[in-house]
Amino acid sequence: MIRIDAVTKRYPDGTVAVDRLSLEIPDRAITVLVGPSGCGKTTTLRMINRMVEPSEGAILLDGADIRQQPVNTLRRSMGYVIQNAGLFQHRTILDNIATVPRLLGWSKGKARERAVELMERVGLDTALAKRYPYQLSGGQQQRVGVARALAADPPVLLMDEPFSAVDPVVRKGLQDELLRIQDELGKTIVFVTHDIDEAVKLGTMVAVLRTGGRLAQFAPPSELLSAPADAFVEDFLGADRGIRRLSFFPSDGLELQTAPLVPIDADAGRLAAGGAGAAPCLLVTDADGTPLGWGEPGRLTAGAIDRDRLIPYGRPFVLGKDSLRSALDGAVLSPTGWAVAVDGEGHAVGVVSQQVIGEAIRAAHTETRQAAGVTE
Ligand code: ADP
Repeated sequence: MIRIDAVTKRYPDGTVAVDRLSLEIPDRAITVLVGPSGCGKTTTLRMINRMVEPSEGAILLDGADIRQQPVNTLRRSMGYVIQNAGLFQHRTILDNIATVPRLLGWSKGKARERAVELMERVGLDTALAKRYPYQLSGGQQQRVGVARALAADPPVLLMDEPFSAVDPVVRKGLQDELLRIQDELGKTIVFVTHDIDEAVKLGTMVAVLRTGGRLAQFAPPSELLSAPADAFVEDFLGADRGIRRLSFFPSDGLELQTAPLVPIDADAGRLAAGGAGAAPCLLVTDADGTPLGWGEPGRLTAGAIDRDRLIPYGRPFVLGKDSLRSALDGAVLSPTGWAVAVDGEGHAVGVVSQQVIGEAIRAAHTETRQAAGVTE
């Protein structure tokens, strides 16, 4: 575990970048440092690998003061990824990734073998191995940066705004990739960002810092959203806090109705029985269960359902995998007010009304309040 213990950083010009900061950074999890520009995030991150030395306080790694080990040994146990990747422009992608293993004395062959393995791990086509950084897109360069930081398999990864310079679509891809890699590798990651949505998405724990390098709140993202410590945190979290919080509630407990599901080749009896549920419309599916659209019960004729005239069903949610937020979004987008639940293959497994989703949200709130020990 990394423990930041009452650390203050005062730069020579008198700027207090970090002010008596204490944090316990859990192992094998992603801890995000977030806050407005200039609140001391980068300074804090750089104190962990001793690129910046604290003015007061100490940083402990597994109980030992990081000043007790040679700085090079410390840095080799900590991969470091920065914005724009910071790649060596005159080296190929393969040699960029192999940098630290080569410094550690690995043979050229072994280091390159490792580099190829890492390209695959971070989702890079190995055909890019011989290219130079300028021949890659920003997103690809960022993946190389991550691969390079992972090359010597350090237990700790320090990431400073690594995805801030790429467009939102590429950024989402990189975030998903990081979560996937973390699932496989279980590194201790300290991640700096000024983007609260990125913090909430990636963080197991999120430290919100305020200007002057003071800690405003340190909590799991769901707790930040449900119980911001003060007006500053609340303001920083921004609009839609309630809706965003629903991302942390699973959809698997939702009570679905299956009666309104009818295959496109349903006979008259099946169409009539389909109306038995409370849904105002029937959800017509392909023979394999893929949803096609809503149809009003009285207007569907057995054997002659025209798929082009069905009412669009909005965006389905994957039962169990997606959250109540996705389910609610699906219901809001659906002209019938009912959301369509699908399985991992995209086959409809049921439909659910806004009302039932609303009840599930209320139940989830009650559960969290009880878990937090709040009694009515
Ligand atoms: P953040 O990463 O949250 O944007 P920084 O850690 O980069 O914040 O900076 C925190 C504060 O320290 C800012 O006011 C910044 O101007 C100041 N600062 C950063 N580096 C130095 C430096 N080398 N000398 C003087 N002041 C600095």
